[in-house]
Amino acid sequence: MDFFLDVVLPIPLERLFTYKITPQEADFIKKGMRIAVPFGKSKIYTALAYRVHSEAPIAYEPKEIYQILDEIPLVNEFQLKHWEWIAEYYMCTLGEVIRSALPSAFMLESETLVLLNKEVQVDEMDLQDDEFLVFEALQHQSHLQIGEISDIVDKKNVLSLVNRLVQKGVVLQKEELYEQYKPKMVRYVKLSDTYCDDAKLEELLNELSRAPKQSQVVLTLFQIQAKNKKPIPVDDLEKESGSSKAVIKALIDKGVLEEYHIRKDRVDFEDTSEESRNISLNEYQSKALDAIQDSFEDKKPVLLHGVTSSGKTEVYVKLIQQCLDRGQQALYLLPEIALTSQLINRLQHYFGNKVSVYHSKYSIHERVEVWNNVLHNAEKAQIVIGARSSLFLPYSNLGLVVVDEEHESSFKQFDPAPRYHARDAAIVLASLHSSDTVLGSATPSIESMYNAKSGKYGYAAIPYRFGNVLMPDINLVDIKEATRKKRMKGHFSEILINAIAEALEEGEQVILFQNRRGFAPVVECTTCGHVAQCPNCDVSLTYHQHRNQLRCHYCGYHMALQQACLACGNATLDKKGFGTEQIQEELGQLFPKAVVGRMDLDTTRGKYAYEKIISAFENQEMDILVGTQMVTKGLDFRNVSLVGIMNADTMLNFPDYRAHERSFQMLTQVAGRAGRTQKRGKVLIQSYNPYHQILQQVTTNDYEKMFTEQLYEREQFKYPPLVRIIKITLKDRDFNKLNEASDWLASSLRNVLKIPVLGPEYPPVARIRRDYLKNVLIKIPREYPLAQTKNSIKRIERSFNAISKYKSVRLVYNVDHI
Ligand code: ADP
Ligand code: ZN
Repeated sequence: MDFFLDVVLPIPLERLFTYKITPQEADFIKKGMRIAVPFGKSKIYTALAYRVHSEAPIAYEPKEIYQILDEIPLVNEFQLKHWEWIAEYYMCTLGEVIRSALPSAFMLESETLVLLNKEVQVDEMDLQDDEFLVFEALQHQSHLQIGEISDIVDKKNVLSLVNRLVQKGVVLQKEELYEQYKPKMVRYVKLSDTYCDDAKLEELLNELSRAPKQSQVVLTLFQIQAKNKKPIPVDDLEKESGSSKAVIKALIDKGVLEEYHIRKDRVDFEDTSEESRNISLNEYQSKALDAIQDSFEDKKPVLLHGVTSSGKTEVYVKLIQQCLDRGQQALYLLPEIALTSQLINRLQHYFGNKVSVYHSKYSIHERVEVWNNVLHNAEKAQIVIGARSSLFLPYSNLGLVVVDEEHESSFKQFDPAPRYHARDAAIVLASLHSSDTVLGSATPSIESMYNAKSGKYGYAAIPYRFGNVLMPDINLVDIKEATRKKRMKGHFSEILINAIAEALEEGEQVILFQNRRGFAPVVECTTCGHVAQCPNCDVSLTYHQHRNQLRCHYCGYHMALQQACLACGNATLDKKGFGTEQIQEELGQLFPKAVVGRMDLDTTRGKYAYEKIISAFENQEMDILVGTQMVTKGLDFRNVSLVGIMNADTMLNFPDYRAHERSFQMLTQVAGRAGRTQKRGKVLIQSYNPYHQILQQVTTNDYEKMFTEQLYEREQFKYPPLVRIIKITLKDRDFNKLNEASDWLASSLRNVLKIPVLGPEYPPVARIRRDYLKNVLIKIPREYPLAQTKNSIKRIERSFNAISKYKSVRLVYNVDHI
């Protein structure tokens, strides 16, 4: 009998591909193992084994596989089922899901370039003969293609050889030139060696008697040291001596104390004490925990609706503990990599070394390591914290999934396929494992609240902040009025300036939010009205002062700022609108003594850029932090008493059915960064239209009213959650062809589907990277059969693809487009 193997190739092909295998291979191969296969004329791919059978394919003569790359499956049945669901629901291929799910180190292919890993000291004795040949070749050449490696070792198939070299850390893949992993450093202090001498010490204490705060710190240091001999973290010293960072810094500057750093992961977490694990929840948290557990009994996902700083994290900690006690794995999903660093510290405090982090800014080796730890259900990976890609890890025994900040739109992958929503995909993953799911937020998405109200989800609430801390006091500032009366200094109202001055005087910190980066989004000629445009996209170029450049935020195009208008030659350019960079500059003039930091896409490109800014702000090395939506996310800063929103209007006026919901969420979230300790926080929102209903709802913290009004509008105008939306974007370089093709597609869809099909319409930015874009929106009523509708759409796509003049037009599906 002949044996065949169906594999999934990591490319956008609808079908599986069939290869010929021997009876021994048929016996050995299991679903989810990696197989090196030839494809096309000369390509080699790593594919995933899917099914062994004995039915020869009819359409083509199957080739033989090259090699089996795994001893045990790298991917388990849960994953494959989950990925199949993603492919089907989000209308892409299984190959596309696999490409996005597996770290690229696992998926070597003929196109892969490898280069020497300079960070690793290689012992040549550890290398096998063929490994050494590659190692040697790489001494003379900066990189090698897989095909070239074939020639060097004179073997057709070298994927397993390259795999070994990657595992040993000898080589890296070209696209993976990440910074090496540098874990967070912890700051410690000790008494300077100068004062080891008793006489010197006495002198010091005498001298300090005139500075009681400083002497208190030194005495506390002795006390702590007497209790145990361990290094003393700066934070502990500050807390125990009841002093401040400034006092400790003064002592360091004087040379009395010395600071030093130790790598966080070398700090021993093993002896996490029973005590630190036993936080006791307050009344509201306990009630919420009970409600969550009740819903778990009913096998329902639960929405945890807790106001900002209500202590949702501590509730998750209890749930995670119970999950570990049952011997199961827990997954904690966050929308932003920026949030993982604060959370990892908190969770390690409770769970020690059982916590792993996984996200796309991690290097290939770290990702491979976490993958393997999860695959082998290792102690280290009992709890995984991560951004959306951590959904794809090989969990075998998942007991709990937490989706924190579930309302965040960054959970939805925009590009490339699979365009999945990590919250929704997490719920499906949890149900495959029969595990519990909690979705947490201070400002739940309309969908999730709708599901909670209709009984599809359970519901638990924490209506008060932890420790009787009051909700921040939110005030609206009418800048229309202030502008008319010429009472603005740059983009700052008097009220905001005074509030900042007051906070700084008290030694407190300030966050300012402006949802645009750069200096000014529009540069316009006051003579002829010409606006500098991107040549590739249909948007104006943003002025970035720091580099004196005009930049496109869609394609990255940039040019030097011109002295004169490109159209009429007059030197009368006017910069309109404002971004974070301009705010930072104005602050420099208004508060020359304050240290101002900025957190936006331009300042956070490096791997640890987030961590650096966040920890500098935490350590109070900055007084004011200016930022885009990045500063609105669930960060927990202790010393922020004032949050200012520079302008709420652009957000509210954005042409999108979610603009109001999003503005409410963003403003409430950023306001929630204020006053998280005893003193009541203050929030000032500047707006030209302070009577806008959303701003009123933000100031009164009236989520319910916002929800009711928004749901009413969605019912009226047929938007989610009342219908499901599939958005099809058509792209082409040729404007006329695009228009013709999208008309064809829209009318075919209308004829076949008999449900509302909107468009084709140009999106707000109708040309990106030289492609013209047009959207067709399909609104599918809730009760309508979804799978069937998608099949009809796919059938129409096949007819579309059969029309030769539309060959160059690309279709992009976005299911549950947000
Ligand atoms: P949220 O995630 O709801 O915004 P957090 O979990 O960050 O709130 O909690 C806010 C602050 O209150 C944190 O500093 C946290 O350590 C503290 N906190 C919350 N619950 C407790 C508790 N039960 N015991 C001690 N501290 C708590
Ligand atoms: Zn552009």
